[in-house]
Amino acid sequence: MTLVIALDGPAASGKGTLARRLAAAFDLAYLDTGGLYRAVAAKLLAEAGDPEDREAAATAAETLAPADLQRPDLRSQAVGSAASVVAAQPRVRRALLEFQRGFAAQPPEGRAGAVLDGRDIGTVVCPDADVKIYVVASPEVRAERRHRELIDRGEPSIYPQVLAEIRERDARDSVRSTAPLKPADDAVLLDTSELDIEAAFRAAQRIVAETLAAAKAE
Ligand code: C5P
Repeated sequence: MTLVIALDGPAASGKGTLARRLAAAFDLAYLDTGGLYRAVAAKLLAEAGDPEDREAAATAAETLAPADLQRPDLRSQAVGSAASVVAAQPRVRRALLEFQRGFAAQPPEGRAGAVLDGRDIGTVVCPDADVKIYVVASPEVRAERRHRELIDRGEPSIYPQVLAEIRERDARDSVRSTAPLKPADDAVLLDTSELDIEAAFRAAQRIVAETLAAAKAE
């Protein structure tokens, strides 16, 4: 039996940082599932492909190789936006589903469990996850965080543009018919709008501890 923690939420909600820290704290493996969609998008963009081209996107997902996950441009805004376009396509999602489930069921390096972050981990990828956390923050707070992150990385960034892209990505991720962004019925909501990373991490740790204690008591 492995311990599976699912962290879902919209773009720039802080779920990646929280997931990485939870994995380190509980000695679990970590999978950034957004990275898989980003890798598909980056591969397409590098080949001058169009993210709307379903056939090309499906082929890119079906032939995804470990080296694709190491591309240097994965975190760029352009790749993030293209990722949300390919992520709406059912064949792309299908191609990436088994890998994600396999990771959760048999975490690498013999770890006792895994933390996965994404949009549909609690609803589709791991509906039986032991702990489900849905991380939210207002679009303005998320845009501000992403804006600062880009500036810190030396990338050009204009706040109103980042905010518009975040809203656009939220809309695309939420309205798609396959695995839309939404909290699982049994997910615990964590609003990080007013929390810095330390406070958010403590809150997430508390949710994990309380959920596991409640399950044990049942
Ligand atoms: O989390 P991140 O911003 O890296 O994800 C990039 C895009 O990949 C998201 O906007 C979303 O469209 C897609 N994604 C998804 N399902 C996941 C993880 C990411 O659809 N589990």
